[in-house]
Amino acid sequence: MRGNHRRDTRPELALRRLLHGSGHRFRVDLLIEACGVKVRPDIVFTRRRVAVFIDGCFWHSCPKHGNQPNSNVGYWLPKLQRNQERDSRVTAALEAAGWKVLRIWEHEPVEEAASRVESALSNWIDARNRRRSRSGGVVNATFGRSTKP
Ligand SMILES: [Zn+2]
Repeated sequence: MRGNHRRDTRPELALRRLLHGSGHRFRVDLLIEACGVKVRPDIVFTRRRVAVFIDGCFWHSCPKHGNQPNSNVGYWLPKLQRNQERDSRVTAALEAAGWKVLRIWEHEPVEEAASRVESALSNWIDARNRRRSRSGGVVNATFGRSTKP
């Protein structure tokens, strides 16, 4: 798996930097085991159970840039197809285990990517706050933020 997933690509780093700058704290490359599938999402919000993948356009066959390889087709096509199958298997397994899965193309502008992540996180916080207010608990207003640099 390592060979076809470069770590710390530029879009990944840019997204992490932006989210971190907005006060979000997350794990990077944390190993998750869900429904028999082991996977290391690029960004993981453990408490909120949000897993983010930044998918490379070539490796994950992006509809805009995932051009068919023009050499060694017999080698690449099955490989790319296996990637796609694995992506959907991983997504399904994580979702079955209660994770929210975000797949972001590496070509997506980082601001848009960050706002998709933010909205996934705030949906979760809403649900959590609703649960809390029903049970009479106190909502921690600073949840999700840290004052540490
Ligand atoms: Zn693309």
